[in-house]
Amino acid sequence: MVRGGYMNRIARVDLTSRKIRVEELSDELVMNYIGGRGWGAKIIWSEVPRGIDPFSPENKVVIATGPLTGAYFTGTGKTTLCSKSPLTGAYGDSNVGGRFGVELKQAGFDALIIEGSSNEPVYIKVFDGDISIERAEHLWGLGSIETEEVIKRDLNDRSISCLTIGPAGENKVYFACITSDFGRQSGRTGIGAVLGSKKVKAVVASGSMDIPIHDVDAMVEVAQEAYDYCFKSEAQKAWIRQGTMQLILWSNENSALPTKNMSEAVYEKAEMISGDAMESRVKIGNHGCFCCAMPCGQISKVKEGRFAGTIVEGPEYETAAMIGSNCALDSIEDVVKLNRVCDELGLDTISTGSVVAFTIECKRRGLLRGVDADYGDVDRIIRLVEDIAYRRGIGDLLAQGTKRIAEKLGQEALKIAMQVKGLEISAYESRAAPAMALAYGTCDIGAHHNRAWAITYDIKVGRMLYTPDKAKWVIYLQHVRSLFDILTCCRLPWVELSLPLKYYEELYKAVTGINYELKDLLLVAERVYNLTRCIWLREYPEMDRSWDYPPPRWFEEELPSGPFRGVKLDKQRYSELLDEYYKLRGWDGKGRPTKSKLRELGLEFVIEGLEKLHVKLSEN
Ligand code: SF4
Repeated sequence: MVRGGYMNRIARVDLTSRKIRVEELSDELVMNYIGGRGWGAKIIWSEVPRGIDPFSPENKVVIATGPLTGAYFTGTGKTTLCSKSPLTGAYGDSNVGGRFGVELKQAGFDALIIEGSSNEPVYIKVFDGDISIERAEHLWGLGSIETEEVIKRDLNDRSISCLTIGPAGENKVYFACITSDFGRQSGRTGIGAVLGSKKVKAVVASGSMDIPIHDVDAMVEVAQEAYDYCFKSEAQKAWIRQGTMQLILWSNENSALPTKNMSEAVYEKAEMISGDAMESRVKIGNHGCFCCAMPCGQISKVKEGRFAGTIVEGPEYETAAMIGSNCALDSIEDVVKLNRVCDELGLDTISTGSVVAFTIECKRRGLLRGVDADYGDVDRIIRLVEDIAYRRGIGDLLAQGTKRIAEKLGQEALKIAMQVKGLEISAYESRAAPAMALAYGTCDIGAHHNRAWAITYDIKVGRMLYTPDKAKWVIYLQHVRSLFDILTCCRLPWVELSLPLKYYEELYKAVTGINYELKDLLLVAERVYNLTRCIWLREYPEMDRSWDYPPPRWFEEELPSGPFRGVKLDKQRYSELLDEYYKLRGWDGKGRPTKSKLRELGLEFVIEGLEKLHVKLSEN
C-alpha cells in the first residue's frame, strides 16, 4: 500500500542466519504507532522476550525513521534507535540527528530490525534497495569517527551516512553510544553496547529513491511558513551562535548546573566552560542536521596548549555540564578534549560524566579503592575514561554504570548514585525543581530530560511549589516530546523558537494524507508512553512507586550554595505530586496503568501479557 511519508518496507537483518527479510509496513504500525519510538516500543513488546540478557542474540535493535524523516521541513533528519537497555534492563531508546534516516528511507526502508548475533565483526550496508552484511574485522578496534572515515574511504563515497560504534560498544560498556555523521550521537541507554554484543561495528546507508509525499504543494507551503518563522526569530540567531551551550550560565544562575557529582548546583568556574568561552576560544563553525533552519552543532577546535588541534562537533550543554562542571573541569579546552575522547571511544558523555564524578566522590569518601582520578584533573580523568572503554582494571566495574557500581559498594554509595532506574540523570540538578524531579522520576527510559524538560515550568510558576499543575505539565510534555520521537523529527524549533505545534499537524497531514489532528497524534504518544511503562512492568513485575523517586541525595542533602542554599526536595510533597501524576495518567497508586486506561488506548494485548506474569492491574 502506497502511503505518503513511508517507503512501506521494513527490513529484518538476522545476523545469526545471515538472512535478510523484507516485510511490508503494516497498517497497525502506521495508524497506531506512526514511527520512530512508537515502532520501537511495539516491536520490543511483541518480539523481545521478557527476562533476556540485553547482550543475548534474542535482543533486537530497531533503527526507525518516521513519516516526517526526509520531508522538506526544518529538523527532519532524525532517526530513533530502540532496544532492551543494558543499563536499565528494560525499554531504552535514543535518537540521533544528521541524515542517516533520510538515507535509509531513500534506500527504500522505513526501519531496520537487527536480530541475532554475528560471530565476526560486520557492518550492514543498505544501498538503494539492497542490504548486505559486510566483513568488518579491519574496523574492529577503531574509534567511532575513524570508522566512519575508513568506510567512506573504502567505498569511495563521502555522501553515505553511517552509524558507528567505538571500542566502548565493542567492549559492551553499558553506556556505549552510537555516532553518526562525525559528531551526532544516539547517546543514551547503551544501545551502542547492544550493537557491540552483536558484533555490528556500523550500519551504512545511501539512497536515491524518492520518498512518497501525499501533497507536495501543501508540504512546501507549511514548510516555507515554518522556515520564515524560524528565520524571523531573534532566538534563532542566539541559538546558532551557541546552541545548547547558552544553557551553562542559565543553569548556573538557576541553581541547576550539575557540579561535583551533583553535590552542588552552582559551579564557581562556570564561565570557563560556558557558551561564551566556547564562542570566543574554540568555535570554528556550525553544523546542522538535514534541512535544519537553526543548526545547533558547534564545531570546536582547541587552538593552543597541550590539546591544540583537537576538533569536535560540540560541546553541547549536556556534555559540557556532565563532563565539565560535574567533574570540575575548568577550561573549555579540557571539555573539548574530553568530549572528543568520549566521541571516539563511543561513550555517552552524560552517563560518562556521571560515572566519573560518582567514582571520584566514592573515592574521596573512602568507598572505592584503586581510583587514580580527581575533580578537575583532566589527564587522570581521560585515563579513567579509557579504562572504562577498554574495561581495564577498575574500569571493568565502572563500565557497568552508576547503579551497578553503587549496588556493589553499599548503602552510602546508593545515596549519592545520581541515577533513576539505572540511567544516569542528565544535566539538571533538581533539588529546587520539583516538576523536573518528577520528570526524571517518571521518565520511561530512566532519568533523561528529553521526555519532559520541566525545569522551565518550575522557574515560571515557582521553584518551591508542588502544585498539581506541575504533574499535569510533566504529562503534557511527556506526550508532546514523545510525539517528536514518534514522528521522528527535531523538537528544538518548538522548544527554543516556540514554533507552534500546528505546523507539525499540518505537515503530518500533507506528507501522509492521514487526517490525524493534534489530539489524535497526542493520543498515539500517550499509547506509546503507556506501552513503554508496561515493558518495564513486564521486565520487573515487582516495580512500584518507589522506582519513580529521584536518588536519596536530593531528599536528604540541602543545596550547599547559591540562591537556593538550604533547599532539598520534600519527600512527602514529592509523593503527593506523584499521586497526582498517577491519577492524571489513569495509573494506580503503585504506578501501574489501570485496565480501563489500557483498553482506552487500544492496549488490551498488554493486559493479557502482564496478567500472565501475575502483575495485578486494577480495573480503574
Ligand atoms: S536544531 Fe540542532 S539537533 Fe535539531 S535538527 Fe537542527 S541541528 Fe539538528
